[in-house]
Amino acid sequence: MTGLEIARIDVFQVELPYAGGVYNLSGGRKYTSFDAMIVRITTQNGLEGWGESTPFGSTFVASHALGVRAGIAEIAPKLIGLDPRRVDRINDAMDTALIGHAHAKTAIDVACWDIFGKSVGLLVCELLGGRTDARLPIISSIPVDDPEAMRKNVADHRKRGYKGHSVKIGGEPAADAARIAASLADKQPDEFSIVDANGGLSVKIALRMLRLLPDGLDFILEAPCPTWRECLSLRRRTDIPMSIDELATDEMSIVQLVADDAAGSIGLKVSKAGGLTRCRRVRDIALAAGYTMIVQETTGSDIAFAAIVHLGQTVPVRSLRCILESREMERMARLMYTMAISQRPPRRA
Ligand SMILES: [Mg+2]
Repeated sequence: MTGLEIARIDVFQVELPYAGGVYNLSGGRKYTSFDAMIVRITTQNGLEGWGESTPFGSTFVASHALGVRAGIAEIAPKLIGLDPRRVDRINDAMDTALIGHAHAKTAIDVACWDIFGKSVGLLVCELLGGRTDARLPIISSIPVDDPEAMRKNVADHRKRGYKGHSVKIGGEPAADAARIAASLADKQPDEFSIVDANGGLSVKIALRMLRLLPDGLDFILEAPCPTWRECLSLRRRTDIPMSIDELATDEMSIVQLVADDAAGSIGLKVSKAGGLTRCRRVRDIALAAGYTMIVQETTGSDIAFAAIVHLGQTVPVRSLRCILESREMERMARLMYTMAISQRPPRRA
């Protein structure tokens, strides 16, 4: 016994309303607020670690807030008494309790890293490999809108020092070409642009849209199509640099991505992978493959942003495109619900 065994796990549900009113994505998807789950793990000697998992609604990747709550309720009782600093062993225990459900495991995994850092007096980024001490460029998230409104949104973020812009498109070739042209019209030499279709295009629609664009636009096309096959097909038919986000989740999908040469960069979102332990592996595979990364979350509060910053600090400058300032997307949070787990489940006879 070290006193650092997990004694109690508290779960807090918090509503995070979207600061911009309505967030529009391809396929007519709309989001007005995000349902966040915050986890506090307390050790027997009273150390506390915090983690968060906030899905981007239920239609972004295969995760949703009810699933996060149900997953944590399934997993948490099995972790009482374990040493949270043994992060890979914690993940083994979580996988034994519940297959998949990376989003539910994220908040617990990050809280364990928080305790690990506090227990040894080191920042989590140091434990993840060591910080680069580089200034982290921040990327904006520009929802689908009229072209001029998107151009203004990009300009507003530029004024606030954002160096990257993730411009969302809707799935209609001419309208999207106009959105892209307007959003990139004032692009500065030190800026980085992503055009993010969030899997909303067929190969045919994507090719039509690309043909309608003015020459010389400098951007990476992210998540063009909903399936792996379609993304690969598009990749083979164009020379547009591509990034994979929604389809690049766990370690195996990154290995597949490298094997298929399906893209040159990834969106590394902490809760897609299942927390920092698995993000560490994804990061290292991506580095070995020579990929660039945007370190992000599906969305989230200060706690999710802290995980982004610590992970982002461990990616070499040449391989890090940007990090997401998840907090700027949310208005004031409201506490909705709490749950506490402090005992192992009774043994079955
Ligand atoms: Mg994306």
